[in-house]
Amino acid sequence: MDRYLVFGHPVRHSKSPFIHTLFARQTQQELEYGLAEPAVDEFAHALRTFFDQGGKGCNVTVPFKEQAFTLVDRLSTRAKRAGAVNTIKLTDDGVLLGDNTDGAGLVADLKSHGVTLADSRILLLGAGGAARGALAPLLAELPSELVIANRTHTKAQQLAAEFHDLGPVTAQAYEQLAGPFDLVINSTSASLQGELPPLTPALIHTDIAIYDMMYGASDTAFISWAKQHGARQTMDGLGMLVEQAAEAFTVWRGIRPGTKQVLRELKRNLGVI
Ligand code: NDP
Repeated sequence: MDRYLVFGHPVRHSKSPFIHTLFARQTQQELEYGLAEPAVDEFAHALRTFFDQGGKGCNVTVPFKEQAFTLVDRLSTRAKRAGAVNTIKLTDDGVLLGDNTDGAGLVADLKSHGVTLADSRILLLGAGGAARGALAPLLAELPSELVIANRTHTKAQQLAAEFHDLGPVTAQAYEQLAGPFDLVINSTSASLQGELPPLTPALIHTDIAIYDMMYGASDTAFISWAKQHGARQTMDGLGMLVEQAAEAFTVWRGIRPGTKQVLRELKRNLGVI
């Protein structure tokens, strides 16, 4: 049977095996999907061993995405732009192809929530790996403006300069942000510690869409905060997780699985519904 897995550290709580097992059942694909948690300095060896032993493909998550970028034979355009690899496929001619499906997953999830990206003003909080992966797919949707704000402002400036050729992207310090924005995407890891990015509540209004890439059984700190300040449409990153997985599954198997039912089952599994 074709073997896939996700590499990460820690990875025990990953929902990827759950999601891909449901995709395989739904599309009647014979495959198994597991977990691998190599020591941080043993990822390269573990990856090579997996493919030497017949593995067909894998996902890569924190903290190995940047290292995976350097270990594959060939990179997709979107992986090159993201500077990180979250999906690897062994092609029929024996080449390890590195791809990045995170940004496509984000855009697919935003669209599935009915969020309009074309001609919109988007504020992207954070300038880490997740922000980098999101920029090209977001700019491809032709927003009127995309502003990056980050705690370390120079990182936002670097990202804006790097993606400037793809669309109207600028960097602004948190304290200088001027609304109105149609969509705010939180790609910081602040919610992981229950913290908030230093955003003024004056930017939140009833018609704004709020997206937090983080997810959990209850509202993230950022989503709770935005709701308190009047945002009516709030979304967490669970849909992005399922959509990036669907994109990876499509890369591997050439069949696109449906995501709605899988997202519902994942929410049930997490106790969200
Ligand atoms: P990185 O560590 O690369 O970047 C973290 C970013 O958060 C940096 O810009 C950092 O700012 C900022 N930050 C951290 N703490 C704070 C704080 N207290 N206040 C303001 N800014 C802060 O992480 P990633 O980009 O890889 O991941 C970010 C988030 O996205 C994580 O929560 C991750 O779980 C989520 N994610 C979700 C996915 C999904 O499928 N739903 C996929 C990928 C990521 P600075 O530069 O100043 O340090």
